[in-house]
Amino acid sequence: MKQEQKENSRKNSAYEQLQPYLERAMALQTANILFEWDNETLAPRQAGACTARVQGALAAAYQELMTGEEVRGLLEKCEKESGFTEKELAIIREAKEEQRELSCIPPEEYRAFQELVAESTRIWTQARKDQDFEAFAPTLEKIIDYQKRFAGYQAREGQRLYDVMLDHYEKGFSMEKLDEFFALLKAELVPFLHQVTDKGTEIRDDFLEGDYPQEKQRRLAEELAEYVGFDFEKGVLAESAHPFTTNLHNRDVRITTHYKDRMDSSLFSVIHEAGHAVYEQGVADELTQTLVGQGASMGMHESQSRFFENIIGRDEAFWEPIYPKLQRMFPEKLGKISREDFVRAVNKVQPGLIRTEADELTYSLHVLVRYELEKMLIEENLSVKELPKLWADKYEEYLGVRPRNAAEGVLQDIHWAQGSFGYFPSYALGSAFAAQMAAFMKQSLDFGELLRKGEPGVIREVLRRHIHQYGKLRDSRRLLKDMTGEDFKPQYYVDYLKEKYGKLYHIEGCEQRNA
Ligand code: ZN
Repeated sequence: MKQEQKENSRKNSAYEQLQPYLERAMALQTANILFEWDNETLAPRQAGACTARVQGALAAAYQELMTGEEVRGLLEKCEKESGFTEKELAIIREAKEEQRELSCIPPEEYRAFQELVAESTRIWTQARKDQDFEAFAPTLEKIIDYQKRFAGYQAREGQRLYDVMLDHYEKGFSMEKLDEFFALLKAELVPFLHQVTDKGTEIRDDFLEGDYPQEKQRRLAEELAEYVGFDFEKGVLAESAHPFTTNLHNRDVRITTHYKDRMDSSLFSVIHEAGHAVYEQGVADELTQTLVGQGASMGMHESQSRFFENIIGRDEAFWEPIYPKLQRMFPEKLGKISREDFVRAVNKVQPGLIRTEADELTYSLHVLVRYELEKMLIEENLSVKELPKLWADKYEEYLGVRPRNAAEGVLQDIHWAQGSFGYFPSYALGSAFAAQMAAFMKQSLDFGELLRKGEPGVIREVLRRHIHQYGKLRDSRRLLKDMTGEDFKPQYYVDYLKEKYGKLYHIEGCEQRNA
């Protein structure tokens, strides 16, 4: 009886009345995401402008709905109600956050910015092709201007502009926390990298390049994705210029890859994207298609993709059961290459200029450069004109390489052209989350043994239990703490890298370190 009354009163509650609006908002978002996927994979070249209108209308309808009087009023009423579950509270929190962010920017400015961004990625693409930073600089200035203005509208009392931007991608990691994180990486990894490169150990990797027929690579990609836990009943694998993952809900998660001459490029990007996808496919049924039905944050997402790609996928034990199959598929190339040599090759350290091609050890140093420059652009009014030189100087200082032109330097990433300032740090944070999770899991699981037996699924289930099922119910710091019993501790990441590469490059004093 009591239960019945409770349910009856809930039926007329503001929270219940809010649901049809959120349902419509979800549908609009999902439709737009499907267009994004289509644009990158199958859409014909001339679709661009016309499809952009459809997407623009969908986005406008979403914004109108989420910032409208009805949703605003109902959210206010929710404040006065009580007895919510954790899920309901999280949905209200997200809806309020979304509404606040969408409504504090004047609609005409928002639209003008959207148009600028649509144009700017085109200008950026051309500038990169022409290796001409000057051609992109005025547009970049305008984008930064908008970003700062928007952050100003969104800032809470006393909040700094770059912190507002960082908050979009990773809650709980402001400049204060990130300064500490990147200072540690700089102090530990830059000198360590010098030790590795000074050592001059030659690792052969020429056999990874050359005659790897696309058809076979495709078959391998499908098998590997499935092997690490990607469910093809709830997802598809397609091709695109840059690999990515799209999720509509936990029953439809799509990944892409590209097939290049270097076979490990597709190999590891498939494992990486499958890691993102396994996360989304693992979100609990009662959360999917709600405002908390996707991964917790950019950093947490990257932690899962990098966990699969690096911590599992680049481990020698991972290849023990499946390397013979690779040899049978590509006998000309790999027939005479031992598993040990193959694994050494895919872990080779090579300080380079391009972030997306970086090895595991140098990767976060690429991110460090971007973090420092973003901070200067947003907080210290660094002039856009000075970017190319500063970029090159920092690459030389941290990685020992200097770009010869803007295409392999400051113009290489699309993020700034899209207005995504504050995004980059989450790539490095994700790697560090993953290392902390691995250190914790290895206390009770024998990774080597499980991988050798061909059972990556056991490891995946632990991640599902601690991370995936919760979606966006809890933020990344909470998830990490609930799982490992500790707050974020980047020393695990440094120790993981030093131990792994100390062993690979025979550097004294690194093999036995533990966090
Ligand atoms: Zn990723």
